[in-house]
Amino acid sequence: MVLAKIKGAPAGVKGISLFIVPKFRVDSDGNPEDRNGVSLAGLIHKLGYRGTTSTALSFGDDAPCHGYLVGEPHQGLKYMFQMMNEARVGVGFGAAVIGYRGYMHSLEYAKDRLQGRKASEKNPESPQVPIIEHADVRRMLLAQKAYGEGGLALCLYGARLMDDQHTHPDEQKRSEAGKLLDLLTPVIKTWPSEHGPKANDLAIQVYGGAGYTREYPVEQCWRDNRLNPIHEGTTGIQGLDLLGRKIWQDQSHGLQLLMQEMQVDLEAATTDRCQQWALSLSETLQQAVKVTQNLGKSLVSGEVDKTLANASCYLHLFGHIIVAWMWLRQANAAANALASANTDDERNFYQGKLQAAQYFFHWELPTVAQDLVLLRNMDDTCLNMKAEWF
Ligand SMILES: Cc1cc2nc3c(=O)[nH]c(=O)nc-3n(C[C@H](O)[C@H](O)[C@H](O)COP(=O)(O)OP(=O)(O)OC[C@H]3O[C@@H](n4cnc5c(N)ncnc54)[C@H](O)[C@@H]3O)c2cc1C
Repeated sequence: MVLAKIKGAPAGVKGISLFIVPKFRVDSDGNPEDRNGVSLAGLIHKLGYRGTTSTALSFGDDAPCHGYLVGEPHQGLKYMFQMMNEARVGVGFGAAVIGYRGYMHSLEYAKDRLQGRKASEKNPESPQVPIIEHADVRRMLLAQKAYGEGGLALCLYGARLMDDQHTHPDEQKRSEAGKLLDLLTPVIKTWPSEHGPKANDLAIQVYGGAGYTREYPVEQCWRDNRLNPIHEGTTGIQGLDLLGRKIWQDQSHGLQLLMQEMQVDLEAATTDRCQQWALSLSETLQQAVKVTQNLGKSLVSGEVDKTLANASCYLHLFGHIIVAWMWLRQANAAANALASANTDDERNFYQGKLQAAQYFFHWELPTVAQDLVLLRNMDDTCLNMKAEWF
């Protein structure tokens, strides 16, 4: 399948059509005929994902190349999005699980590797401790757990919406699932794609020098994962899609539905810890809503470039709020389950969930304060920088 333009088509993306470009042309009975003029221009030599082949194709360079129109002319972009939306959720999943894979490897390593002693231990004769005993190493492991399990929870939520929009017995719920998925797709694609490689970067750091070598598996995780913020729409493009389109479509019905869904989990927080986290999420959400309303007014008044200049900040703000919500959901479930857990393994599992939720609320959610300031002031530093000044 190839996107291309028919001669005289409208300018820009509105003039794109979808074609099938087969290797062989077929006769009227569908039997293979001449070789079509599509050929391999070369292999793409990639940073990662070397287990899959990516190629550059050339069309019509050596022989006539025939493409067969799929559907209506100039509707190519719309058709492409039928595939792209699912592909984008798939990219988010891939990024989250590669991030998680690096976490699993570095966790095992940190339990094994002996290096240094506790800061309070002055006796040089005392045995060295596994590096997992150092708070700074636990910070790197906790961040990976928070990114990996937060990203996975988000993708699984997206997968659930994808199912519900087709199979939920209630027609209204099917429609609502579709709207929520539409709104959240840029976040499901981007948040794990941005934070998966960050997790892999930390996995390399936990391994120290060993992490930088090919003898150990985590450098490959980072190389593979680095594609995810690029393909199926870069992070910058996803930010523009969210702030320029998705937030406002259908009179922001998707956003209203999302806030209703979040409200259920904010109210479900029962323990002191969960209630504290619910409060900080609720306060951040209120500030984000105010900022969103201001940005909306600015868009309507025609200040499009200025409003969308910091769309990536908005995506970070929105993404962190959604993943904080995912952590609150997990924390609520873990707090309830902990009360009736029977074994040490179960108790450790739920305590780990609660500590990772705490990490997200103490270390990650506060980082949106800067996004809020930049967006509130509609900071024009990047917009007004001139190419000649670099
Ligand atoms: C390994 C690999 C496999 C791929 N496989 C396929 C495939 O199977 N099929 C396919 O069709 N494509 C494929 N691609 C292409 C991929 O989808 C594009 O690389 C990607 O969409 C980015 O487009 P680009 O490379 O043209 O970058 P550009 O569009 O040139 O973007 C470069 C930078 O500029 C920013 N930017 C661009 N436009 C704007 C804007 N309007 N506003 C703000 N910032 C902007 C981007 O965010 C990015 O940071 C593949 C790419 C790779 C690396």
